Amino acid sequence: MILGGTTEARALAQSVAEADFAAIYSYAGRTVSPEPLPVPTRIGGFGGAEGLARYIRDSGITHIIDATHPFARIMSRNAALACVETGVPLIALTRPAWTPVNGDIWVHAPDMESAVDALDTEPQRIFLAIGRNVFGHFAARPKHNYLLRLVDPPRTLPPLPDHHIVLDKGPFDLESDTALLQNHRIGLIVSKNSGGEGARAKLDAARALGLPVLMIDRPEMPERVEVTSVREVMAWLTHPGTERGV
Ligand code: NAP
Repeated sequence: MILGGTTEARALAQSVAEADFAAIYSYAGRTVSPEPLPVPTRIGGFGGAEGLARYIRDSGITHIIDATHPFARIMSRNAALACVETGVPLIALTRPAWTPVNGDIWVHAPDMESAVDALDTEPQRIFLAIGRNVFGHFAARPKHNYLLRLVDPPRTLPPLPDHHIVLDKGPFDLESDTALLQNHRIGLIVSKNSGGEGARAKLDAARALGLPVLMIDRPEMPERVEVTSVREVMAWLTHPGTERGV
């Protein structure tokens, strides 16, 4: 079973289908109409680690690949617990974190709460590039103007009195993100350190415009085997035990 919701998980599903493995891809159900995949899918939570362990047993799952987002902390913790409980092997397909390069102006926040604390400033125009499930944290800083970029229109309005929503699912590039930051007269970008290519254009644009980035560091993940390429996961599936550990 692939725990998905990322570009990497999608690429893995493609390889797994080509290799003719019996697989199931699990979505949390956050995206309204996800693109079709070449493997069967299921949608929705399992009911915590216990629910996942039950699902693993009932469905005869033999391998779990945690290809969720680096900030999907709860799912990753549950996957690790359920795999210990059931004795099913687990591997995480993840992406290296972004690191600053010359010209970047990054201020680090160890977590979301610290990022909110750091915004106790004069009103600013902020690109809040962090995903709608955590917008609520920033309700504690209502004086800023927030630019929000979403894949789907929100079902309920974000609890931020002064915001503007842009609907776009990417891919994003330097040119379009530079234009976005300029058109909205953005003074600060708040970003999670997601890593990967899909979302890094905003950081390149920030560097080009000399804008600061409040970078939220990744949450701690459970101890597990981690790889960063689909190829390594495929090798693990065919020759478990040869993987690189962390
Ligand atoms: P999370 O906080 O770690 O998980 C919250 C709950 O959502 C989990 O306890 C689980 O419910 C359910 N869940 C999460 N991922 C699931 C999956 N792949 N299949 C089935 N249930 C899942 O997760 P999140 O940060 O909200 O992320 C949700 C999804 O969005 C994940 O698939 C993730 O890869 C994707 N995503 C997240 C981010 C991000 O920044 N967090 C960005 C892009 C994509 P139960 O406890 O009931 O099992």
